Amino acid sequence: MIIDCHGHYTTAPRQHEGWRSEQIEAHKAGKPSPPRPRITDDEIRESIANGQLKVQRERGTDLTIFSPRAAGMGHHLGDAATSEAWASACNELIHRVCSLFPKNFIGVAMLPQSARVSPRNCLREIDRCVGEYGFVGVNLNPDPSGGHWQDPPLSDRYWYPVYEKMAEHDIPAMIHVSAACNPAYHTTGSHYLNGDTVGFNQLMTSSVFKDFPTIKFVIPHGGGAVPYHWGRFRGLAQDAKLGLLSDLMLNNIFFDTCVYHLPGQELLAKVIPAENILFASEMIGAVRGIDPETGHHYDDTKRYIDQLPLSAEEKGKIFESNARRVYGRLSRIIEEQSAKAI
Ligand SMILES: [Zn+2]
Repeated sequence: MIIDCHGHYTTAPRQHEGWRSEQIEAHKAGKPSPPRPRITDDEIRESIANGQLKVQRERGTDLTIFSPRAAGMGHHLGDAATSEAWASACNELIHRVCSLFPKNFIGVAMLPQSARVSPRNCLREIDRCVGEYGFVGVNLNPDPSGGHWQDPPLSDRYWYPVYEKMAEHDIPAMIHVSAACNPAYHTTGSHYLNGDTVGFNQLMTSSVFKDFPTIKFVIPHGGGAVPYHWGRFRGLAQDAKLGLLSDLMLNNIFFDTCVYHLPGQELLAKVIPAENILFASEMIGAVRGIDPETGHHYDDTKRYIDQLPLSAEEKGKIFESNARRVYGRLSRIIEEQSAKAI
């Protein structure tokens, strides 16, 4: 089985994002939110069958761990109440996709975060998504201000209520920022990769893994700058007398393969042990074009991994067994959802 651990519902029916715009406009005007739009099962089916499902089939992957559109989370917009209503609507839609296509999609939750609001307000939504929807993870935004970095670092006890919940449910968090509202950043070009790198560095210099030995984080987009600068981080850990970086991080930190060229994948696989790499493409997402150098989509990441000089056993870890290990509930939910599909 080939499990893509990083996909977003970027093709949701138009009225879903339309409602979000109306909700934020109403909030600005001090008015109540409009009623949620009607979205039919057929509209959802069409958006997936012609989108992510089609790409899965074309590329020979089996299952996508699926979450709401990341740039659409917009935790810097509105307030805690608008974030709560929006996260609830987005997660419900993911649950509907997973119910309609139980063999192909398993859910991950976006959280109702809001800049400078304690992440304690996310706990109820985590319980709901794990308990009612069978979701297997969350996306945690280390910068709900959208590029102004106004919240404490991930090392701070501010985040511990979320970590306690992750440990309780045995669910990992993907560290994933949303859209940038700071014009210095391009959302998917610099803000995403910066979020990945910042998140890793904050956790590296923290006691989070001493306090939560079983907790797991996925750093998306190939780990941002981390694998390329592994020597720098090793040296920083050594200078700070934190011990070996591999001992410090590799029980708890995993890197996905959303790297859109072969040399980048080669470097990732050379620097990071196969046990810590999870297959992912982030399709249909940030980069949708075809690479003229290869004639294939940039985000067709399976092609790069197929070409890596790794053993079949190592590739099996990257494509399947690491995901089952990192997402502790995944194997059970695969069985439950497959039973529903029969
Ligand atoms: Zn993403």
